Amino acid sequence: NQHLAQVDPDVAAALDAELRRQESTLEMIASENFAPLAVMEAQGSVATNKYAEGYPGRRYYGGCEHVDVVEQLAIDRVKALFGAGFANVQPHSGAQANTAVFFALLQHGDTILGLDLAHGGHLTHGMRINYSGKTFDVVPYHVDDDGRVDMAEVRRLAQERKPKMIIAGWSAYPRVLDFAEFRAIADEVGAYLFVDMAHFAGLVAAGLHPNPVPHAHVTTSTTHKTLGGPRGGIILTDDADIAKKINSAVFPGLQGGPLEHVIAAKAVSFLVAGSAEFQDRQRRTLEGAKILADRLSADDTRAAGIKVLSGGTDVHLVLVDLVDSQLDGKQAEDRLHRIGITVNRNAVPNDPRPPMVTSGLRIGTPALATRGFGATEFTEVADVIAEALQGDLTDETAGHLRGRVEALATKHPLYPAVPELSS
Ligand code: PLP
Repeated sequence: NQHLAQVDPDVAAALDAELRRQESTLEMIASENFAPLAVMEAQGSVATNKYAEGYPGRRYYGGCEHVDVVEQLAIDRVKALFGAGFANVQPHSGAQANTAVFFALLQHGDTILGLDLAHGGHLTHGMRINYSGKTFDVVPYHVDDDGRVDMAEVRRLAQERKPKMIIAGWSAYPRVLDFAEFRAIADEVGAYLFVDMAHFAGLVAAGLHPNPVPHAHVTTSTTHKTLGGPRGGIILTDDADIAKKINSAVFPGLQGGPLEHVIAAKAVSFLVAGSAEFQDRQRRTLEGAKILADRLSADDTRAAGIKVLSGGTDVHLVLVDLVDSQLDGKQAEDRLHRIGITVNRNAVPNDPRPPMVTSGLRIGTPALATRGFGATEFTEVADVIAEALQGDLTDETAGHLRGRVEALATKHPLYPAVPELSS
């Protein structure tokens, strides 16, 4: 960071402080991860200087011969990773990727089915003031009393409302979706099946979660969540006609010049995602989430009114239900923040508390698994969280729990191989 510190000490200082925050706390926001240094080097590269409107081999600018290599590597690697016939790696983010899918396949006013935001869906799946909600006639589906997506409701709504598209995917849901069943319902009513695997793509890449790509007409993902790459989006499909529409929806439909430096970083992260190390990391991610779910459903936590939605997890996150607890979501988030654990509060289905307060927490394990955490460390984290959420948190107990958090953070330093980053 030599140059940055010289040219702009203010930004350098803020970024330095952010590094120290990331190092000294436990990151358990389910959508976050730590990108490898190789990914950050690619993103901080000279590709940031290059305009490359168009696609590899078909650009509207000269001098694209090297960024063509980079983008083609990203395309080929992500296709192989997910077994897809086509990939567009240019969307600047997950929301951009989803917008491109809508732009490619839908018309203003079309009907779409998506998981209700309050039941775990994403903003872009039809939230009222999101582009998706403002542009389309949105029919939300829900989870049932057991916290599982109610497929009978999906089928009933699909048959009644004849949507043009059914969206399967989530931001806060702890179970695996039945993609084959979603596709069967879509086929029954002549709808597109669009799967947004942003959250669980890393698990899919590691072969630890069903792959939606063979079932969906089109699949999107972010590249920075479980997948562990730079911030960005991708779109996959096996359908040649849809592929053409997606390419023209992304460019020139929605975007101008692609972020080739980010695409370079995506290419590196797709290579990493094919490795045995990555697979082991995803295995530990799942193991950690199960330990957390078990510990937060133990007798003592249940007695304090703390539950785990759907009774457990199949994925990288746990949803804590605080409806019967004296703590609300905001207070629980603040308590964990106080002892050095970062999570986000989250509405639970039929939440009695207002959206800025909520009655839930979403706790994820991907970032800590990337940091090297295994069963032993996740058990300790789970115990610390369970203790923090029960009864009153006195200054003395908080200090003690903060010490246990610091010990875990010290045991697994972030970016340990690069001394200049951990100064
Ligand atoms: N789709 C899902 C399921 C998500 O959870 C998210 C992000 O939280 C997105 C899309 C949007 O991704 P981005 O924040 O990169 O726009």
